[in-house]
Amino acid sequence: MIKKFIRKILGVKSPAEAAAAKRKPTVLNAKEHGIDPQLLSSNAIRVTSTLQENGFKAFVVGGAVRDLLLGVKPKDFDIATNATPDQIKRLFRRAFIIGKRFQIVHVMFGQDLLEVTTFRGAAVDSAPKDEHGRVLRDNTFGEQFEDAARRDFTINAMYYDPATQSVLDYHGGIADIRKKTLRIIGVPEERYREDPVRMLRVVRFAAKLQFTIDEATRAPIPVMAPLINNVPTARVFDEMLKLLMSGHAMACLQQLRKAGLHHGLMPLLDVVLEQPMGERFVTLALANTDERIRQGKPVSPGFLFASLLWHQVVEKWDAYKAAGEFAIPALHLAADDVLNKQTDSLALQRKIGSDMRDIWAMQPRFEKRVGKTPYKMLEHPRLRAGYDFLLLRCASGELDAELGEWWTAFMEGDGEQREHLLTVKPKDTGVVKKRPPRRRAPRKPVAE
Ligand code: ATP
Ligand code: MG
Repeated sequence: MIKKFIRKILGVKSPAEAAAAKRKPTVLNAKEHGIDPQLLSSNAIRVTSTLQENGFKAFVVGGAVRDLLLGVKPKDFDIATNATPDQIKRLFRRAFIIGKRFQIVHVMFGQDLLEVTTFRGAAVDSAPKDEHGRVLRDNTFGEQFEDAARRDFTINAMYYDPATQSVLDYHGGIADIRKKTLRIIGVPEERYREDPVRMLRVVRFAAKLQFTIDEATRAPIPVMAPLINNVPTARVFDEMLKLLMSGHAMACLQQLRKAGLHHGLMPLLDVVLEQPMGERFVTLALANTDERIRQGKPVSPGFLFASLLWHQVVEKWDAYKAAGEFAIPALHLAADDVLNKQTDSLALQRKIGSDMRDIWAMQPRFEKRVGKTPYKMLEHPRLRAGYDFLLLRCASGELDAELGEWWTAFMEGDGEQREHLLTVKPKDTGVVKKRPPRRRAPRKPVAE
């Protein structure tokens, strides 16, 4: 009785009241949430209205609602509905059921893909878990309020109905958007244990949205960070890629460090964050990537990882050369070493690995500015990536800027200009850093 009275005075909800409140969302109308309907894609509206016309509930959900509330055009639209995957599939001409464990439906309109998901049910204690508590499978359908409770952060758990223009908010997401706060839904330790990738996600969102991480959400991260090691490497790699290609890679890496997630977690991160020699190069590469993404230009993961690991390659390349190997085979050996090590730990896909190798292997060839070599380089299918990489090496001070300028002129020049460039004597080989001299095998005295 007294407790109830104190709660009433303080405006604090009892656990039962809190649970009941989460069954019923706060509903905001267009005036209250201020979403600009122009930011919505017509295909998202097509999907929600088709489902609704057929008697189902359907909403835009997750990151798209968050972005709409922030006045940002979402890059993709996810839809949540109470229709089952089969029911969804029947309503669209090009719809494909994806996934074995928890089925979702991909609805395609031309190139545009929308992910349509049936509301997920509450996590059940009996769901299979690994020995650290990570949920391996849970594929029950459920009510909308249960779907909301299973999402990661309050700002990612809102639903928008384009027909009524209302936002349904189950976990105080609107308030957190206004406070620019990232808050995990439920008990943070439990949620990280269920899925440790959420620790990487919170860091990515904090950097990307420039939000602060709520103290209770942030506090367990340094302690629970090692749980990420038990997540399949392919999934961690996907999340890392999202992080590095978010347009805020530098900020993300700084956040990772701040959250205590940078150490001993991912071999690649150790390399990136703790190599003093390549710091300038990596910083430039990431700044360059962020800029390209913000300008809407494509970024290849191969180029990105080739940059992140370049100084490891250089170190090994120098070592092989010092041991008497010729420059080109030494570079290939160094690339093999680095790729083999990272492929195991990072689940680097084969395609990304071969792009990286191409970019690295082109580098010494840029230093040959005579004869047919430069013309052959012009025909190389990966010339652009190799050249961008060369410019990065120049900008970082590894090579003389003159080499990059020569290549810019050669690539842009006409036949005559190119011929002239080939006769220009380079100021030097372009190499700034002093490389150890190749060790020659000592001449054996000739036997008499
Ligand atoms: P982005 O802008 O990076 O796409 P997003 O929030 O849309 O951000 P997605 O990975 O596309 O992120 O996920 C869509 C939604 O699914 C999220 O907004 C969230 O509600 C839910 N979600 C995704 N991953 C998890 C997770 N690991 N745990 C709980 N909910 C998740
Ligand atoms: Mg998304």
